[in-house]
Amino acid sequence: MLRDVPQTLIAANSAATESPAKPLLICLSHLRWNFVFQRPQHLMTRLARHVDVLYWEEPLIVEEDEATVRLTSDPSGVTIATPLLPDHIAEARRPEVIRALFNRTLAGKPGPMVRWFYTPMMLPIAQHLNAAVTVYDCMDELSAFRFAPPELPRLESELMGLADIVFTGGYSLYEAKQRQHPNVHPFPSSVDVPHFAAARNVDCTGQPTIGFYGVIDERFDADLLAQVADLRPGIRFEVVGPTAKIDPARLPQRSNIAWLPAVEYADLPERLGRWHAAMMPFAINESTRFISPTKTPEYLAGGKPVISTPIRDVERHWGNVPGVIIASGAANFAAACDDALALAQQPEEWIGEVDRALARISWDRTFHEMHGHIQSRLVSSQSMASLRKRSKPRYDFLVVGAGFAGAVMAERLAADAGKRVMVIDTRPHIAGNAYDERNAAGLLVHRYGPHLFHTNSDDIFAYLSRFTEWRPYEHRVLADLGERGRVPMPINRTTLNLLFDAGLTCDEDASAFLAQRGEPCPAIETSEDVVVSAIGRELYEMFFRGYTRKQWGLDPSELDKSVTARVPVRTNCDDRYFTDRHQAMPLNGYTAMFERMLDHPLIDVLTGVSYAEACSLVQFDRLVWTGAIDEYFGTCFGKLPYRSLRFEHETLPVEQFQPVGTVNYPAESVPYTRITEFKHFTGEQAPVTSVVYEYPCAEGEPYYPVPRPQNQELFARYDRLARASDTIFVGRLATYRYYNMDQVVGQALATYRRLLPELGDRLTTSKVG
Ligand code: FAD
Ligand code: UDP
Repeated sequence: MLRDVPQTLIAANSAATESPAKPLLICLSHLRWNFVFQRPQHLMTRLARHVDVLYWEEPLIVEEDEATVRLTSDPSGVTIATPLLPDHIAEARRPEVIRALFNRTLAGKPGPMVRWFYTPMMLPIAQHLNAAVTVYDCMDELSAFRFAPPELPRLESELMGLADIVFTGGYSLYEAKQRQHPNVHPFPSSVDVPHFAAARNVDCTGQPTIGFYGVIDERFDADLLAQVADLRPGIRFEVVGPTAKIDPARLPQRSNIAWLPAVEYADLPERLGRWHAAMMPFAINESTRFISPTKTPEYLAGGKPVISTPIRDVERHWGNVPGVIIASGAANFAAACDDALALAQQPEEWIGEVDRALARISWDRTFHEMHGHIQSRLVSSQSMASLRKRSKPRYDFLVVGAGFAGAVMAERLAADAGKRVMVIDTRPHIAGNAYDERNAAGLLVHRYGPHLFHTNSDDIFAYLSRFTEWRPYEHRVLADLGERGRVPMPINRTTLNLLFDAGLTCDEDASAFLAQRGEPCPAIETSEDVVVSAIGRELYEMFFRGYTRKQWGLDPSELDKSVTARVPVRTNCDDRYFTDRHQAMPLNGYTAMFERMLDHPLIDVLTGVSYAEACSLVQFDRLVWTGAIDEYFGTCFGKLPYRSLRFEHETLPVEQFQPVGTVNYPAESVPYTRITEFKHFTGEQAPVTSVVYEYPCAEGEPYYPVPRPQNQELFARYDRLARASDTIFVGRLATYRYYNMDQVVGQALATYRRLLPELGDRLTTSKVG
């Protein structure tokens, strides 16, 4: 069985992984291994337990005759390769010499290979490698750094084109990069809590001392520190670390500032332990806009209060955690130093909450999640390589798309009809638009916007219950009307009373109130007609017109009535968004539910694979298509319109952001349609919270078929071709219907039932199957 839900980088028991070779991971980094122990070292030392790691660092210029590579072994097992370039080699020739050294070092190494870049500047060295997986771990916005090479942006965009996976060192960076690559994951700096917790046992007495350790470069605001030191002569400020790109002689000298050399990672806790508090006097400028300093959690793990200038990711992740004080300007920073020293006297008042926040992050967890992403790509790329060798194995069915439509079809065909099925998806994951995942804050979020499960069908609910347990959840939505406040949506009696002080006490009152407002309409055809006839123009404009124009890029008068009719108007006080009999969220999330659906010996799954690639890899008797129907037919009648969305995910340093799961913003002046806070559906507890903003757009992934008569006519032409073909079309995009998840499940089950007579024996059809 081919699966890409991995446990370890050394894939076992997979028909796709015949070669037992341990993968070689080549890490290309601008950071010298022995400089400071940070993200690359944390990750590579952990990766070295699973793969052979070769850490290729920047060259050293030496007084030798010949160019060579120095290979040294770290106790973790990482091999560090340092190119040694003779000083007589002209600068222009160096890249060519380095490339030759690189090729020589790798000659004869067996695959599969994972290529991991910390800097796009090393792309030219390793571009030609035949790597199974390419990772770009983007730690910083390097182009914003002092002395950044001018070719960096171009090389970064080439690297984005080549990479299978992009990790970012923080959220701000994720927001900046997420539009440049389809598979970007934020991984803010983590921390080895037990290592730094040793600082809590160090005796800390004597003169109040506030410290910083790390690289001292243009990001460090030395002038600010000097001013603060002048304002607080009684505090000793200790700065520990190497300088880079700045002249150490120009660092401000004060009797109460000690500029000290770097200490080893192993000795940091001891040093940290001697301080009363820690500081991060970072400059607020382009070079720090995207940074997510590892130091924050390290200092906190060491039990020290932290004073930081307002670095966005520090504010966002830690600003709300007691023990962290954000301050800008010398006077505020100095006052914050006093507060931090006071906190240091009473750790019991704040350390508990810090520990709860720290419990959610660790390098082990970061590594584990990154490892999962790489493994998934590695397995699918190995699977593809293996399929290529196996001269096109035959499947009864190829299912294109691993969303609800594809997964239900595959599950039924395999589990009920005993058919061999290959499921593929262009995305690097299963579950289609319902895909959910843990984000860097450890919270479960829906990558493609909020998915609330609701159905009136007992059969559909029973069918899905084979693959998941549920968490009961009834979704509630507020509409934000600006100055008029937030009111329940769908409009109900409470909404009317809040807006008009209408004093409506029963359903009849509310019906009469709405009837007075409703405008008679001879034929209800459009999304405007259906609302205006029911509740009148004022409410229509307040709640529907702007939202719909944003969501669809069309006026409601141009859309089929079925669109706005999805949202009812109520005369009672029921403020739930849905009234279906079953309303619940899969207990462990949708992705876990899909994993169980597809976990069958007759089902193979390949993600990150296009239909065209799949056709070159396998043979199949029948095709189930759940992608866009016009794409299947090469858009021969023209493109069917789909509406897209851009999702902006954010994690905020507050426990709760809004009182309900979703707040809608109907005003056209607000660029997004709604904000959803996931904790409401999952019931997860954390000091931070994750939200998603939805920005509708014309270009991008096709999410919504656009219901209007001319589109239905165009679809009907494709549908005639579909009916004449042997391919089975199921799902929202393949049947061009604005379906909810339960409707797609129902459609897939019905499609399967209709297929049954053609499938032959070996059927154990159950009621829903
Ligand atoms: P999808 O989930 O879109 O799956 C199709 C898959 O096919 C995709 O993963 C795609 O990558 C893959 N694919 C397409 N073409 C190809 C190709 N050529 N080669 C390989 N793979 C291909 N429904 C609800 O019931 N409740 C909700 O709250 C809800 N909220 C929603 C919110 C948003 C923002 C959106 C966009 C939809 C929402 N839905 C909701 C609807 C729900 O997402 C759909 O009903 C459901 O996902 C449809 O499943 P599907 O399998 O038809 O399509
Ligand atoms: N709608 C609106 N105002 C709202 C909520 C919905 O005008 O506050 C309209 C809008 O046209 C939207 C449609 O009703 O596209 C269906 O809303 P629903 O919440 O069902 O949308 P979905 O969750 O499918 O995006």
